[in-house]
Amino acid sequence: MGTGKENLQNLQIYCDFDGTITEKDMIITLMEQFAPQGWEAIKDAVLSRTISVQEGVGRMFAMIPSDQIQEMVEYARRIVQIRPGFAEFMDYVRRSSLEFYVTSGGMDFFVYPILAPWVPKEQIYCNRVDSTGPFIRIQWPHDCDAQCSGGCGCCKPSIMRQTRRPGCKQIVIGDSVTDAKAAKEADLVIARGYLVDICEQEHIPYRVFRDFYDVRNILEELRQEER
Ligand SMILES: [Mg+2]
Ligand SMILES: [Zn+2]
Repeated sequence: MGTGKENLQNLQIYCDFDGTITEKDMIITLMEQFAPQGWEAIKDAVLSRTISVQEGVGRMFAMIPSDQIQEMVEYARRIVQIRPGFAEFMDYVRRSSLEFYVTSGGMDFFVYPILAPWVPKEQIYCNRVDSTGPFIRIQWPHDCDAQCSGGCGCCKPSIMRQTRRPGCKQIVIGDSVTDAKAAKEADLVIARGYLVDICEQEHIPYRVFRDFYDVRNILEELRQEER
């Protein structure tokens, strides 16, 4: 009792996928390759917050015929670049029995196969595709709860509230504006990219990471502090 391992088990980790586990945003990468003209205007509307992430992503995928999904999966697996240290980090997560979830605004058809070597499906929260119609339709199994202002698609703060265990610290790992609401909910944010700026502006406690070796070191330091 009272071991470091026990302290680590008082952490709940919520990790973004696009631009965090992967080097590049896979939705954008897939759109560049598969979407017809017009998708960029929708992307710009999302980035300028004219429309919600949920509406924008739904509209972009609705431009793509359902029969292209298999080709998209193959393309995604071929070109994806996983951020250095992720495999080792997942090893560390397993050995330390850490509670770890991936929370992604991406879709099951590419998130599951890309993460299959390291993360079981039960630990992944993402959107689903319905390919029974002529065009791709997105389903939102993790839509916003009553405490969220809405439009997230896959609502990271809602997932954190649903899975919160009393006495545990919630750690968010992420890179961008889609992690902002989760960051406000977190006890500590491990951030890169634009999420660093958001944490600065909002006075949210954060640490910076470049790769998953950094993430591991930060969690180890946290464990030392908690002792
Ligand atoms: Mg991201
Ligand atoms: Zn939400």
